[in-house]
Amino acid sequence: MARIISNLAMLLLFGAFTFQPESAGWLREQKSGYAFYYTAADKPRVSEYNKLIESGFKSVREFFGKPYKTEFSIFTHPNRHSLDSTWQKDWGMPDFKSECWMVASGVATKLDLISPAAWDKESCEHKYSNKEETQKLITHELVHVYHGQHNQSPDFSDITGIDWLAEGLATYASGQCDAARMARVKEALIANTTPNKLDDFWKGQLRYGFSGSMVMFVDQHYGREKLLALLPYNRVDDVLKSLGTNEAELLKGWKQFMLEK
Ligand SMILES: [Zn+2]
Repeated sequence: MARIISNLAMLLLFGAFTFQPESAGWLREQKSGYAFYYTAADKPRVSEYNKLIESGFKSVREFFGKPYKTEFSIFTHPNRHSLDSTWQKDWGMPDFKSECWMVASGVATKLDLISPAAWDKESCEHKYSNKEETQKLITHELVHVYHGQHNQSPDFSDITGIDWLAEGLATYASGQCDAARMARVKEALIANTTPNKLDDFWKGQLRYGFSGSMVMFVDQHYGREKLLALLPYNRVDDVLKSLGTNEAELLKGWKQFMLEK
């Protein structure tokens, strides 16, 4: 059976949690709200990583106004091979090879990431030395976990047309909608090269900017309470209905909002 995998699905994981932590040399530390798994190579960095995670927890709590519903696990993989083999098992895709920019994923029950100290070697887009970006990326994944814990599809395997919302929310709530990224979206709007449908927001080079700014628009136009009310929906039709709008109107409002920024 052919399976179509969207960029989002690749980030957000498919399938059941089948990973067996005990069998892979994982060490475990119980923290408040999460279990932290790491390998011996990362032992010296555990407290550094936990600081990043705890700062992300704080941002999530502030943005959503509530803590996580349940505890979850965080796996810090020593290298891409380890992350890929987990994703292969979780998604039931034995041949899956991640793209060089992919370093992490988050669903309701767990967050997987390549050890940030290994990003310089294992990733084409991320540098551990960029502390601010590293923090935001970890917070981004923690937002996916929070979203998963409130979504009708906790592992995001059964979603239709909400890539922009899931990724946009994680981008916006983690502070990744910075001025430079928003300026690039505005330039694209002026050049008339922005997507004409929501399905195309989480695509291409500006996917974080497009999706993040759409969620920023929803937050600032409809309000935080309305944005939070969208968390359970896994279908875009229900999202639009809840907002009392349609796709064309939403896009029109977003364009105006961004051009006035
Ligand atoms: Zn994401």
